[in-house]
Amino acid sequence: MVADLRGLIDPAQCKRLVVKIGSSLLVQDGEPARGWIDGLAHDLRDLREAGIEIVLVSSGAIALGAARLGLPGGGRASLADAQAAASVGQVALAQLWASALDRHGLVASQILVTIGDLEDRRRYLNASATLERLLETGAVPVVNENDSVATEEIRFGDNDRLAARVAQAASAKGVLLLSDVAGLYDRDPSEEGAQLIEKVEGVTPEVIAMASEGSSSGLGSGGMLAKLQAARIAERAGVVLGIVDGRHEGPIARLRGTGKGTIFMPVRADNARKAWLGGRLAPEGVLTVDAGCVEALDKGASLLAAGLIEVEGKFQRGALVSLHGPRGERLGQGLVEYSAEECRAILGLRENEQEARLGYAPRAAVVHRDHMVQG
Ligand code: GLU
Repeated sequence: MVADLRGLIDPAQCKRLVVKIGSSLLVQDGEPARGWIDGLAHDLRDLREAGIEIVLVSSGAIALGAARLGLPGGGRASLADAQAAASVGQVALAQLWASALDRHGLVASQILVTIGDLEDRRRYLNASATLERLLETGAVPVVNENDSVATEEIRFGDNDRLAARVAQAASAKGVLLLSDVAGLYDRDPSEEGAQLIEKVEGVTPEVIAMASEGSSSGLGSGGMLAKLQAARIAERAGVVLGIVDGRHEGPIARLRGTGKGTIFMPVRADNARKAWLGGRLAPEGVLTVDAGCVEALDKGASLLAAGLIEVEGKFQRGALVSLHGPRGERLGQGLVEYSAEECRAILGLRENEQEARLGYAPRAAVVHRDHMVQG
């Protein structure tokens, strides 16, 4: 369990971390802040060498694109401007990260997502599987919202909440928001006597009342309220979230020294995960497994087709299903990787026997461990 901000960058406490970078850190006067980016890439290499897998959530597409196209208001004067700016700026952003990470021996990948990709359970599984595979290969996924196609009502709009959702999809322990503020203050940080809040256990209405509206730079769309919303998503998903000052070269190395910022602790991880996995949904089917599979699940394995003995119900990939043992005892629930029909087709089969039935290479599991809660 991550105990404090330094815990987020300690491989013994946090094996997988999402690092989110705001536009104001990345872009200065319409130009990429190359020195800063290089310093961060250096930090990320150090984290990777220490054994922490990293997902980057990078803003900056709109700000970079607006400068290239000469659009007013940092490209945020209208939705159409933001979409055009993001389309141009995303190319530059991807190049920036690819070359900065490459200089430090890391391989960048790009993932652009919309809300639907992370909220719809079937697409969530797809995004999650892609992130998992990329991290296994050693690449550093660089994620941004697909601003060019997302319309107003279906946009995250800020990358803070996006980062919290990505952490959930990537099964990361923590999210670090590198910001142009040092953390959450008990009142507007420009007011005299404002105190930094070091630890928040539960984003209550009192905590929300501390946040002042708007972002200090005007470049991004974050602001403290968006960060608190992100903290809310994270706390319910069992993810630790930190806000730290990013306005220094090598901000993560600096955090190792100062430990300064605000940490938001999750509510109990199990319940949180269960709540999200279940939501208000009723399970759409039942998967019954054999005794060997029950034992494997107890040891933390995923549910494999080989252990499956019965499939009840009609459901699609991404549905919530109940998991039962051979005597009908309830084991838990999870998001299923196949439709009911496909589950029946591969029931009892080992991995090398599944492709012929499915007509495509099988997925890693029927219900992956990361998308399952027991009990
Ligand atoms: N996705 C936006 C961009 O790349 C940034 C959103 C935000 O400011 O948080 O420009």
